[in-house]
Amino acid sequence: MTELSFPGQRPTALRILDSNVSPLPLLQGRVLVHENTRFIPRMRHSIDDDLGGIVVTGDTADERAFQLRTEVGFSGPLLIDSAPYKTHTATVDEPFLLPRDDMFADVETSLSFQKARGASAALTPTGYVEPENAKALKAVWHAAQRIERGDVIVSLPIDATWLKDSHIRQLIAVCTQIKQPKALILAGQFDPLEGAKEMPANLRRLMSEVEHMALLRSDLAALDAMAYGASFAGIGSDSSLRHSVAPGERALVASGGGAQYPKVLLPNLMCFKGAVGLANKYANTPPPVCYCDECDGQALDRFDKPDGLTRQESEDHNVLVWGGWASEMAAHAADADRQGWWRDKCAMAVEQYALENQRLGVSSRAGFQAPAPLKAWASLPAGTR
Ligand SMILES: [Zn+2]
Repeated sequence: MTELSFPGQRPTALRILDSNVSPLPLLQGRVLVHENTRFIPRMRHSIDDDLGGIVVTGDTADERAFQLRTEVGFSGPLLIDSAPYKTHTATVDEPFLLPRDDMFADVETSLSFQKARGASAALTPTGYVEPENAKALKAVWHAAQRIERGDVIVSLPIDATWLKDSHIRQLIAVCTQIKQPKALILAGQFDPLEGAKEMPANLRRLMSEVEHMALLRSDLAALDAMAYGASFAGIGSDSSLRHSVAPGERALVASGGGAQYPKVLLPNLMCFKGAVGLANKYANTPPPVCYCDECDGQALDRFDKPDGLTRQESEDHNVLVWGGWASEMAAHAADADRQGWWRDKCAMAVEQYALENQRLGVSSRAGFQAPAPLKAWASLPAGTR
């Protein structure tokens, strides 16, 4: 973890920022794909040059980042999320996880290491911030204050309960104090925003009221954040990367254990659905088709296989679909236009549920049900910035 030079081989990308350069202009307006390195020996064609980028995570994230820069020649925005929040809980004394094998290692070592491996900017190695542990949250702020370099994003992997009415003011207050760009990562089982009904509104409030916020490792909440003032965001390529869980917990899946099948983003319903459930639902009804570059008119019930190629195709479909929405959103320059467009889009999707259930000949209880956050984005008043 301490080796910072790479004799004979250096990442050549132009987009590795000098340590005194803020990452905001580079990342502003982008929605990045959060990828687990164990799955990607290749570059996705689905990533948009102007509005996209990559966050690599997983055990070999730094190796994969270096490979993307040196072998693949990727020159777009790239972050390395070593996910210390999966094993380390932030404490007053140790808000950041530092390498245990080097007694001289400090946060500077961790930041420089990411840059040397090809990251555009460096993420602080922040631990998971437990529910109600305001002292740990403040310790992250104080530790961030001591960082003097400019190429840093303060990672804030917080328990999603911080978005409850009881804690949102405190969260906003601390985030306001942190002067660097801040990347929120929500920890909680399933969709963390379903933990309490006020969470989507409070997340939106945080993105609106605090400067230079980002939402990483997320789902379509990333787009709501972008409509309401986030500087940048990131969406996970698979469901485990669309949220996090507390250290020591395993991400629970609705289907239980066993082979993991893709989750498919349904464009008309604006939600991710398990591929096996989709194949069953559409066994006797013509399935929805998609015209993204990956699908080219094919049906969306075709991903019910656990092999790598099917997973890649389904993920590329997902990235192309939400990437298209991110581009449409970016075309609405003014806040009010963008927010109105997003609210109408979500409202239209919510209305599609009854129609699709009727087409399937099932009741709303047995059929598709709109996720609570989608309903919130469709109904919360626009223009609250
Ligand atoms: Zn598609």
